[in-house]
Amino acid sequence: MIDLAIIGGGPAGLSAGLYATRGGIKNVVLFEKGLPGGAIASSSEIENYPGVEEVKSGMEFMDTWNRQCFRFGLTHQMEEILNVSKKDDSFVLKTYNKEIEAKNVIVCTGSIPKRAGIKGEDKFYGRGVSNCATCDGFFYKDKEVAVIGGGDTALEEALYLTNIASKVYLIHRRDDFRAAPSTVEKVKNNKKIELILSVTIEEIFGDQSGVNGIKYKDKNDNISTLNVPGIFVFVGMSVNHDILKNDNGSFICEVNKKGEVKVDLKMKTSLKGLYACGDIREDASRQVICAAGDGATASIEVINSSH
Ligand SMILES: Cc1cc2nc3c(=O)[nH]c(=O)nc-3n(C[C@H](O)[C@H](O)[C@H](O)COP(=O)(O)OP(=O)(O)OC[C@H]3O[C@@H](n4cnc5c(N)ncnc54)[C@H](O)[C@@H]3O)c2cc1C
Repeated sequence: MIDLAIIGGGPAGLSAGLYATRGGIKNVVLFEKGLPGGAIASSSEIENYPGVEEVKSGMEFMDTWNRQCFRFGLTHQMEEILNVSKKDDSFVLKTYNKEIEAKNVIVCTGSIPKRAGIKGEDKFYGRGVSNCATCDGFFYKDKEVAVIGGGDTALEEALYLTNIASKVYLIHRRDDFRAAPSTVEKVKNNKKIELILSVTIEEIFGDQSGVNGIKYKDKNDNISTLNVPGIFVFVGMSVNHDILKNDNGSFICEVNKKGEVKVDLKMKTSLKGLYACGDIREDASRQVICAAGDGATASIEVINSSH
């Protein structure tokens, strides 16, 4: 039986592995379906991780994590975990061809931003199209940007971007927002935000250097063009929580309305011995440093509860 199974090898999982093995837990296995590194490995640049002054590609940045986090005995199995279930005092992890028992499990499978399905969105993703204002907002300092979406995240990110960009166009297909009234009020009162409502986006366009703008259609089928170098799409997140589902579709631990796993300040879920860290958990800040902090917190708790 494994003492600690960590599922997902992004910043949360790697940090959990480092802390658990260095803290004396003997048999710690990191299950990662691909190469360890996580979502940030697909980013062209990261420049907001304290202590790493040099701007690096996500892949290069995670390279040192991979070397350091496996130094104290953490092992990696390249496996996709299909399901986690409780069995007496332990857990059973299912893969395509085997079952693995573990005393404790830390789930760090992350989440994926939903795409809006707009023409040009995929083509320019990472070259002007982004799903993260905290990550990429700074690239548009004193420039105009567009935000697509009408929920809480879209509005909060639009407000965040007003601290950096010269102007933020908030584009939404309806004429009202599905967000907290106080946030809607703040958006409406912010002089840097211009609302473009009840429109359908036709296309994100650009050239080899990146995005040049967006075309949208109003209710009367009139097409307009907005020239902006940055477009932030916030149409929801898909939390990678399927492995925590029972056969009947219910979850083995508590999740919130968005499907994010509920945890306490020690990253403990409602099920004893099961922890959730990083982008999969409720109220995650969806940043590398926060995911890494969660991983460390969970492993420290696993160590403390083993005494
Ligand atoms: C393009 C881009 C740019 C970003 N830029 C920044 C930035 O500049 N600064 C910043 O701080 N953050 C940035 N982020 C956000 C940051 O990457 C995430 O917040 C962080 O990676 C979350 O870490 P995590 O460990 O929770 O999950 P992830 O990094 O998403 O890792 C989850 C891992 O779990 C694995 N996995 C999933 N399901 C299974 C399964 N069933 N079995 C086995 N393995 C599984 C996945 O393969 C993945 O490797 C960026 C994200 C993206 C996509």
